[in-house]
Amino acid sequence: MSNKVEAIITRYQRRRERLIDMLIAVQESEGYISDSSVNVLASGLNLSPLDVRETLSFYHFLRDTPSGKHSIYLADTVIARMNGYQEVKEALEDAVGCAFGSVSADGEIGLFDTQCIGLSDQEPAMLVDGIPFTRLTPDKVRTLLAALKAGVSPAALANPKGYANDTFDYIESLVESNIRQPGPIFFGQKVNIERVISDAVTQLPVEVIDAMSTSRLRGRGGAGFSAGLKWRLCHDAPGETKYVICNADEGEPGTFKDRVILTHCPEQVFAGMVIAGHAIGAKEGIIYLRYEYRHMVPYLEKTLQSMREEKLLGRRIAGNAKFDFDIRIQLGAGAYICGDESALIESCEGKRGTPRVKPPFPVHKGFMGCPTAVNNVETLANVSRIFEKGAKWYESMGTKESAGTRLISVSGDVDKPGVYEIEWGISLSDVLDLISAKNPRVAQISGPSGECVSVAKDGNRIFSYKDLSCNGSLMVFSYERNLLDIIQQFMHFFVEESCGICVPCRAGNVELYNKISLIIEGRAVEQDLDEILAWSKIVRGASRCGLGTTSPKPIITSLLAFPEEYNQRITTQHGPLLASFDLNAALSEFTVATQTLNSTSSDQSVEVSK
Ligand code: SF4
Repeated sequence: MSNKVEAIITRYQRRRERLIDMLIAVQESEGYISDSSVNVLASGLNLSPLDVRETLSFYHFLRDTPSGKHSIYLADTVIARMNGYQEVKEALEDAVGCAFGSVSADGEIGLFDTQCIGLSDQEPAMLVDGIPFTRLTPDKVRTLLAALKAGVSPAALANPKGYANDTFDYIESLVESNIRQPGPIFFGQKVNIERVISDAVTQLPVEVIDAMSTSRLRGRGGAGFSAGLKWRLCHDAPGETKYVICNADEGEPGTFKDRVILTHCPEQVFAGMVIAGHAIGAKEGIIYLRYEYRHMVPYLEKTLQSMREEKLLGRRIAGNAKFDFDIRIQLGAGAYICGDESALIESCEGKRGTPRVKPPFPVHKGFMGCPTAVNNVETLANVSRIFEKGAKWYESMGTKESAGTRLISVSGDVDKPGVYEIEWGISLSDVLDLISAKNPRVAQISGPSGECVSVAKDGNRIFSYKDLSCNGSLMVFSYERNLLDIIQQFMHFFVEESCGICVPCRAGNVELYNKISLIIEGRAVEQDLDEILAWSKIVRGASRCGLGTTSPKPIITSLLAFPEEYNQRITTQHGPLLASFDLNAALSEFTVATQTLNSTSSDQSVEVSK
């Protein structure tokens, strides 16, 4: 084993920042990461075993105990639970012969829960050795498990037609793209990336940045920061070495549109990275791909190689003797918080994904201490289209403060779940018509960290950075759904995903989860509502990153939109709400704060390709 681990260390040139790649490689080779592998990695990288363990213990998909010859991760999400998750889970336990969180007695199969794996339009879904299986039913699971036990590989099961794993057909055969509404930016005519890159790299970097500013493109990862300004700050930052990072870690539950972009037009994203590299003066780009999309790596690598062969990556790009730029893929290992750009950078450096204290911001001190522009997949794909069609063309779409279009991932109680391109400025009602929402009562905009909206009261609100600044996820819940159960599961998500470095976030989210559980059980009293508000204020105000500043929002925004859901569950043991308790007054400061969060999202927002 020692020789194998040594070979892995050598493959990654003993670079400490590649530790996550090494851990994944060891796990793929050995099934898990043993103490002895940790020791070999530590000595090969001049680290202590505790340093290696610190990284290893942080990520969901890295395991330090045997996890079975085959590891199965079933996504436990709100949407999956609406579509038969529990029955599928029981069928898996029955077929494998062990409970979730353990390995079968023969050591063959391990069963584990995980959070959203980017498949909310086709759940229940699971990963088997990293390969996705969707639209699960108990029967389907039983058939799959029987074949697996008979020795058929997950790859063969998922891909009966035998497509090569670096092809579009392979990706499409594993997972549906469900593109419901293409638009002017996405999924229509392919961007001519050769022309776009050639045009951009013959301009001066400041001209490229000026064009971005003219387009008024704002980051699509959640924070909504001006893309042109981000590039300008990075361009102006002192330093010879700079980096472009593409955030492909869309972990916000209900979001999957970046997966579809990377399936249908990865070259549009990579061309955006090349243009960003030219603008800021970078030679290296990294696409940080969430582990859940690992099945796409060969396909994306092949796309990158084609671009190299066409001289659109590598040395002297498009004939510009002064511009060399290449892109590599960095896999994540399962951590929602790595959607935060500074946590993502820590992860790229081979460490735990702990958000950094800001300032300094990544544009000044990012990857390996160098100025770094982090943009998400959708933002960079927009860049290519802007350079094809022109900044003025782009900024003529949308609204005054929200130029262009927005991709939304739609799931829940709708006839047509999938990906839609909408123009900023469209109303919630119109979107619900477009997606054929079924008896909609609640619209959860931007995932758990977003806003819970009443369809009856808020149908006229519009999608824009000023109002519903949707980060890419729209979940719809009908009158038949139990809203508080949904809120409880969202709070459970934040408890699970808090990195734990700030006490208010680590402890406060547990407290909020306990409170919502108490309400559901009908054991809460009025004081619990008071304490919810007090805890929300603490968590929001004293946390380091966007996870903490947004995690109380499921409770706060649902309390604002549906106060009756809470009031009717408060125990009557001490009578109904006291006449002296003014719910609206108690919530007023949260109303303002929520609107502020929605309109600015600020740099603290967790950029989870939301
Ligand atoms: Fe970690 Fe939560 Fe603090 Fe963010 S707010 S740094 S997730 S503990």
